Amino acid sequence: MSTIADNIALVSSRIQAATAAAGRAENSVQLLAVSKTKPAEALREAYTAGLRDFGENYLQEALGKQLELADLPLIWHFIGPIQSNKTRAIAEHFDWVHSVDRLKIAQRLSEQRPADLPPLNICIQVNVSGEASKSGCTPADLPALAAAISALPRLKLRGLMAIPEPTDDRAEQDAAFATVQKLQASLDLPLDTLSMGMSHDLESAIAQGATWVRIGTALFGARDYSQS
Ligand SMILES: *Cc1c(COP(=O)(O)O)cnc(C)c1O
Repeated sequence: MSTIADNIALVSSRIQAATAAAGRAENSVQLLAVSKTKPAEALREAYTAGLRDFGENYLQEALGKQLELADLPLIWHFIGPIQSNKTRAIAEHFDWVHSVDRLKIAQRLSEQRPADLPPLNICIQVNVSGEASKSGCTPADLPALAAAISALPRLKLRGLMAIPEPTDDRAEQDAAFATVQKLQASLDLPLDTLSMGMSHDLESAIAQGATWVRIGTALFGARDYSQS
C-alpha cells in the first residue's frame, strides 16, 4: 500500500509536469490537500511530508481536527457549502474560504472576522455546469457579486473557484476550466487565484490557469462515508 508521502510525491510530479507543459512558471500552482473524512493522523502525516494547506468541507469535523493539530502551523481552507449559522466559526477558524456564492454569506463573514486576524481570503464559487450543479453563483450574477465582495472590509477577494461536472473527456474538462478563466479575466479586479482541478482533472485545470488544485483521493485514498 502506498503511503501518503508516496502519494504526495506522485501528485507533485503530476502538478510539475502539467505546469511545465502549460509553459507556466514553476511553483505557480499550489497543492491544497482535501482532508474531509480523513483522521487527524493522516493530516499530520501529510504535514510531515511537507504539506501546509488543508481543505475541509464540514465545519464540526474540521474544528475537531484543528484542535487535535493545534501544535502544527497549518493553513486551513473551508471549501464546502456554507449555511448562515456557520459563518461565525468559519470566520474565526479559517484562513481561506473557497465556496462563497452569495452576498449574505460574504457580509456575515466580513462582519464576523475577528479584528486581530488578517482579512479572510475569499474565492467566489461559480457554477459553470448549469443545472447539473446546485452550488455556485451563475456567471450572470458574478460581476455584481464580485464587486460587492471586494468592497467588504474584512475580506480579501482573491479569485474564483469552480467544480465542473466530472468528466473523463479532456476537451470537456478544458472547456469548463477555460470558461472559469475567462470569467475571472472579465472582472475588472486585481485577482490572483483560480481554485480549480481535483484528483481526476488537475492536468486540465493547470493548463487553463489554476493556481490552487484541490486534491483529496489521490493523496489520501478513497473516502469512506459509511461511518459518518
Ligand atoms: C472533495 C473535494 C475535492 C477533492 O476531490 P478529489 O476528487 O478527492 O480529489 C476538491 N474540492 C472540493 C470542493 C471537494 O469537496
